[in-house]
Amino acid sequence: MPHTLPDLGYAFNALEPHIDALTMEIHHGRHHQAYITNLNNALAGKADLEAKSAMDLITDLASVPEEIRGAVRNNAGGHVNHSFFWKVIAPGGAKAPSGDLAAAIDVAFGSFDAFKEAFAKAGLTRFGSGWAWLCKKADGTLAVCSSANQDNPLMGEAFGGCGSTPILGLDVWEHAYYLHYQNKRPDYIAGFWNVVNWDVVTENFAS
Ligand code: MN
Repeated sequence: MPHTLPDLGYAFNALEPHIDALTMEIHHGRHHQAYITNLNNALAGKADLEAKSAMDLITDLASVPEEIRGAVRNNAGGHVNHSFFWKVIAPGGAKAPSGDLAAAIDVAFGSFDAFKEAFAKAGLTRFGSGWAWLCKKADGTLAVCSSANQDNPLMGEAFGGCGSTPILGLDVWEHAYYLHYQNKRPDYIAGFWNVVNWDVVTENFAS
């Protein structure tokens, strides 16, 4: 099996009280694992595709055979998005942006609070399941967007993306918050700000 579940890197309860341990355990061990299992099943017997990373698959979906393209889009997308998400909500790190990232946020949005408002709106107005993103565009400036399902900005416009590189993401699928927050997505997003590891976001911005 070419794709395997990455370690979370911290305890399931490390993000409490903002994201509860049971949600983290199920989200990582069952939901993320399911994307990986389904991706491996879709790629089975296609050695050239099995040799590619999940990132390489989602950034070149046009080269994936049409009969498995939907499955690869959803499940390689899910694998990439969740692997990314666990890192930006890792415990520790700075609790607010600083330096070049803080300056870029001010240029793009006016202030950190205005950025948070724009990002929260992207998550709140994503109907159904999807993600909110802070992305670095090709010119180095920042923008907020959202995607449906497990689409990723790097997928390109034909596949629900915008070609920009995510540096922060928030899973707004109900499975990410329903046990603790039920239908209250705004409260989940408010809690999310307490667990963002801005050291990781800064590394994403710089790379
Ligand atoms: Mn999820």
